[in-house]
Amino acid sequence: MAKAPKAVKPAVGGKSEAPALRYCSQPIQNPRQFDPAVDALRARAIIHGGKKWVNGTQLTYYCYKAGDAVPAAWRGKAADIKEVGAAFETWFKLGIGISFKAVSRPEDATIRIGFDPSDGSWSYVGRDILTIRDPQERTMNFGWALNTPYGRDTALHEIGHAIGLEHEHQNPFAGITWDTAAVKSYFAGPPNNWDMQQIDWNILRKIPPAEVKGTKWDPDSVMEYGFGPGLIVEPVAYRNGLNPKGGLSAADKAWIVESYPGVKPTETIPALEVGLSQKLAIKAGQTRVFNFKPKRTRTYRIGTFGTSDTVMVLFEVTPAGNVQIAGNDDSGSDLNARVDMRLINGRQYQIGIRLYYAEMAAETSIMVW
Ligand SMILES: [Zn+2]
Repeated sequence: MAKAPKAVKPAVGGKSEAPALRYCSQPIQNPRQFDPAVDALRARAIIHGGKKWVNGTQLTYYCYKAGDAVPAAWRGKAADIKEVGAAFETWFKLGIGISFKAVSRPEDATIRIGFDPSDGSWSYVGRDILTIRDPQERTMNFGWALNTPYGRDTALHEIGHAIGLEHEHQNPFAGITWDTAAVKSYFAGPPNNWDMQQIDWNILRKIPPAEVKGTKWDPDSVMEYGFGPGLIVEPVAYRNGLNPKGGLSAADKAWIVESYPGVKPTETIPALEVGLSQKLAIKAGQTRVFNFKPKRTRTYRIGTFGTSDTVMVLFEVTPAGNVQIAGNDDSGSDLNARVDMRLINGRQYQIGIRLYYAEMAAETSIMVW
């Protein structure tokens, strides 16, 4: 996540010369289970795309603040809330096909952010956030001040999780060999005070190749922790510590633009016509958006055809941005993605699709009828 400030020597082996850093500690998740009929290739494709949002999604967020009916410790200070907004803006400015919007009620927010200092910093990853539905539950927490260079990187890092990124030091391509005893002793100690499960989940565990950002390790990623000396054994170059540059790396920026391509000014979004199927013409992992403007008010069915695993989301286009009104994820099942919804004449809708897997990608199509 962030650069370990040079002045700080983490307390390795119990000898603390300066206060050690606090690190992001992710909630432990059970791996997704698939039906035995789903072969390894297909399961891998679903896992790879499964946490990403579809293009066109507007991610609404809410920062708990004074007066909210949540534990007092969750309520953020204005200075920290401002940094959260700035970090969303930094990601958004890269020209991407998803957007972020602060809303005024937690009930309207997909991402709900607390600021409990006793709970560290963490966020659910990508579409896993949708499993946390209670407006009085957090999907992200910040455990320290955000208006410092370390805090600003923390804000970018947690939002990185929210849009689908995992920890970069757990990338199996990093080839990191840890001094396991030193790692355990460091993170079990203050100020992190993690238990062995948290240490394993957030540091020692290697993330399955299907879930990582790319095929190469990016030590400068905002999703990489800075580590003090004595924790990494291999690669040898990092024995004296690892210090990411800070901010978003070139590979972070490339990843998000590839995962959520923005619509270029010269590009028109294709429109769907009732009863006419259109080929998706996308490869596994890619996302695409279609416009639909109903000429009559009635219930429409929108569906995909072909042997494929997709997530499909229906949005209404409003002056305040896209509002998700329905969604369907058919991954790992024999069903196709299908949404039935009453749509109003004169309103504008968008359908976002992410293709996880297709037996014959060219033959997957979408239709509204
Ligand atoms: Zn993290």
